[in-house]
Amino acid sequence: MAAAPGPALAGVGATREVLALPGLSEDLLAPWEARRLAAIRLPARRDDVLASRLLLRLCVSRLTGRPPGDTELAQRCPDCGKLGHGRPYLPGHPGLGVSLSHADGVVAAAAGPGPTGVDVEPAVRRPASARTLRRLLTEAELRAAGPGDAGRLRAWVRFEALLKAGGQAPGVRVWSDARTGAVAAVATGAPAVVFSLRPPRAPRGPEEPRTSGDPPPHSP
Ligand SMILES: [Zn+2]
Repeated sequence: MAAAPGPALAGVGATREVLALPGLSEDLLAPWEARRLAAIRLPARRDDVLASRLLLRLCVSRLTGRPPGDTELAQRCPDCGKLGHGRPYLPGHPGLGVSLSHADGVVAAAAGPGPTGVDVEPAVRRPASARTLRRLLTEAELRAAGPGDAGRLRAWVRFEALLKAGGQAPGVRVWSDARTGAVAAVATGAPAVVFSLRPPRAPRGPEEPRTSGDPPPHSP
């Protein structure tokens, strides 16, 4: 199947929100993903990994119009060439790049035409040291980041997203998701539409299934 043309899509959400979404459950994972998940000892980390993989399926579903369960996800390591770890890709959509990220209760995922990378960090996280950033970033990137923690964290997620895209993506967008308290970046070859999951409703009687779970995506 050909890649869907048009914008890239990137989503951010709290892990618990993603895991509470109807239609997204652990049984969407491939057997190899389930085995990897089962090997994670720390429950919070396991939840983050699961949520990032489910959010990725949601992104792909919204781009392709296919149900989330139709997404076959694979990973191949660019270093050793083995499957099951390394850069994620969709065997059924060779033109569509995908990426996922998770960090301490927040997750992000992205899908778009061509190389795609996404990264997320809690906004309260201490950024990489100035020394590390000096090693990794260009002069212009360092100047843009500025000396403050917030700028350095944004520069870091930007760097990570670009790295995951193989350094090839022409466009990088960094944004703060105030509601989930996350800073995220997506690197893609197409203008990125970003979305945030809607907060879970306060319980009132029987739970209503939600089909969408987020506000309309907004453009830059
Ligand atoms: Zn490897």
